[in-house]
Amino acid sequence: MPGPLIAVLVGLATCQLGLYLTTVVLHRAMSHKALTLGRRPLFAARALIWLTTGIKPREWVAVHRKHHAFTDVEGDPHSPVVSGFFTVQLANVILYKRVADDPETVRRYARDLPPDRWDRVLFDRGWLGLGLGVGIFFLVFWGNWHLVVIASAVHVGTYLLASSAINAIGHRFGRRPFPGLATNNQWLAWLVAGEGLHSNHHAAPTSARLSFAAREIDPGWWVIAALRRLGWAQVRHDEVHLKAAAAVPATSSAP
Ligand SMILES: [Zn+2]
Ligand SMILES: [Zn+2]
Repeated sequence: MPGPLIAVLVGLATCQLGLYLTTVVLHRAMSHKALTLGRRPLFAARALIWLTTGIKPREWVAVHRKHHAFTDVEGDPHSPVVSGFFTVQLANVILYKRVADDPETVRRYARDLPPDRWDRVLFDRGWLGLGLGVGIFFLVFWGNWHLVVIASAVHVGTYLLASSAINAIGHRFGRRPFPGLATNNQWLAWLVAGEGLHSNHHAAPTSARLSFAAREIDPGWWVIAALRRLGWAQVRHDEVHLKAAAAVPATSSAP
């Protein structure tokens, strides 16, 4: 297989690793407490998040909780209704940074995640994590810089586009089985570790599983089920707990 093709595949695989870490750890575990990870698996996940994304978990959690508090109204950090579809799809990282860099937002929405000594020494240095991640690519490709650049660019580009799509497409196009503008798109769910079932998620944010019907598939849940079998994760509740506002089907709430 030609080197550049291998580099593209490595970049795509790393992107998927980042997306699974994002949905299982940053989103379902840390933001919504839908599952709890054991001490060691959580530490390993924090290290991998640092190496693959450079994201500071408490900032991600704060931005995301603010999104749930102000969904598709003024104050939503990344709503296609408020900011425009293409702004969210193509410039989500700028919208994210604007809110994540506000210490008041982080203090208010992520007070349960104060920085520990690992954050202070390592994990708060996002660029160092990403730099080490590039260093790992360098070892994988035996110092072949052009393959390192290809793999890094594919990983970063697809991770940004895919995570933006959850916020943009996931509030603009697709089925709306529950009230609100969030949507379900199974094709997107395949690409983003289950997060495409976004209407389901807004209807039941504390559910670790985002698929509610037999025809819906949530690959992120498969990972959680495996972690559970290994004794590395506990799920808060197996049944779907709908929020009161979501208990009314979207069709019957239409005027
Ligand atoms: Zn949303
Ligand atoms: Zn959420």
